[in-house]
Amino acid sequence: MEAFDFDDGLSDEQVLASGIDTLAVEEATEALIRALGEDSNREGLRNTPKRVARMYSELLNGYGMDPDRLVNDALFHVSYDEMVIVRDIEFYSMCEHHMLPIIGRAHVAYIPNGKVLGLSKIPRIVDMFARRLQVQERMTREIADFISDLLEPHGVAVVVEGFHLCMSMRGIKKQDARMTTSAMHGAFRKNVATRQEFLDNISRGARPLQI
Ligand SMILES: [Zn+2]
Repeated sequence: MEAFDFDDGLSDEQVLASGIDTLAVEEATEALIRALGEDSNREGLRNTPKRVARMYSELLNGYGMDPDRLVNDALFHVSYDEMVIVRDIEFYSMCEHHMLPIIGRAHVAYIPNGKVLGLSKIPRIVDMFARRLQVQERMTREIADFISDLLEPHGVAVVVEGFHLCMSMRGIKKQDARMTTSAMHGAFRKNVATRQEFLDNISRGARPLQI
């Protein structure tokens, strides 16, 4: 059989590390194509099951991520205790009800209590929870809970804005409906001024969500 170039930039190791049973996804995709009344052997569809399986190993690789390895070497002990904000973290997720994309941005803040996390790790934590079958409310809470457990900070706040393709392509067909969810822990829940400082920061210069 000739080798096929999937041109997706994925190495075999990445596909394997996703933890996804790509062979089973391939078979299921071929069955789905046939169930839709298509010919799974025609040229354009022949390699589609393989492509789809590899695609899911990328889009849903959050299942295979090891949280300990993710934060490895990036926890620092400091006396800094002012608010840390990482805003406009772009993410791509998949809704678990329709398996259609959720595209959006997450804003994360915490107030350190002796420990801070390397800056690049916050977007990776967002990705770890986004790249699964999700509902936005749960994803928001999972990001907040994870940072809470990891850093035991004075407070954590997460705001997620999402555009759900299942709301625009199907069902109510609302092109511009955005969903905003939030999770507030500790000082962000108890202290109105702290919460407001975060909300003011993320709304300052906010760009409309681009899709
Ligand atoms: Zn949906």
